Amino acid sequence: MITVSSKDFLQIPIEDYIISADKVAHVQLGNNAEHALLVLTKTGYSSIPVLDVKYRLQGLISTQQITDEILGLEHIEYERLPSLKVDDIMKTDLPVIHIKEKFQKGLDLLVNNPYVCVVDDERTFLGILTRRVILKQMKKYLYQTQESEV
Ligand code: AMP
Repeated sequence: MITVSSKDFLQIPIEDYIISADKVAHVQLGNNAEHALLVLTKTGYSSIPVLDVKYRLQGLISTQQITDEILGLEHIEYERLPSLKVDDIMKTDLPVIHIKEKFQKGLDLLVNNPYVCVVDDERTFLGILTRRVILKQMKKYLYQTQESEV
């Protein structure tokens, strides 16, 4: 059996492991919070990317950020949802990974994030790298290494 060394494994390009942009639920700048909450609830994801018209990554929006924003003293002010823009609620300070990066960089970022957005030089959104995908690859690698040692 051919096995890869752990050093080589960490140098594998992430490109092969991303979930491509066309399969990732997202919202656009200018969308209102009601629409974002609808997408988040329907897809079941806790956060999704916010893109501009040129498909460049601008931020991430989560259910928690939206509910935080409409949390009144006495009740949740759902009536404010249509007038709130995702632009004003989204998180803009977010980790990103360049499409040409290697597995090691992805692994480092995914320790503290369930997923990271993948971009090119122009910050065009190309997809996401998730903890699940990385863990699957690591599992495969570890099992192969174990088998080759027996
Ligand atoms: P997973 O590792 O598959 O559980 O995904 C971790 C997180 O990545 C999810 O909670 C979502 O926020 C995000 N995510 C995964 N797949 C998608 C997708 N197809 N569209 C949007 N977000 C996604």
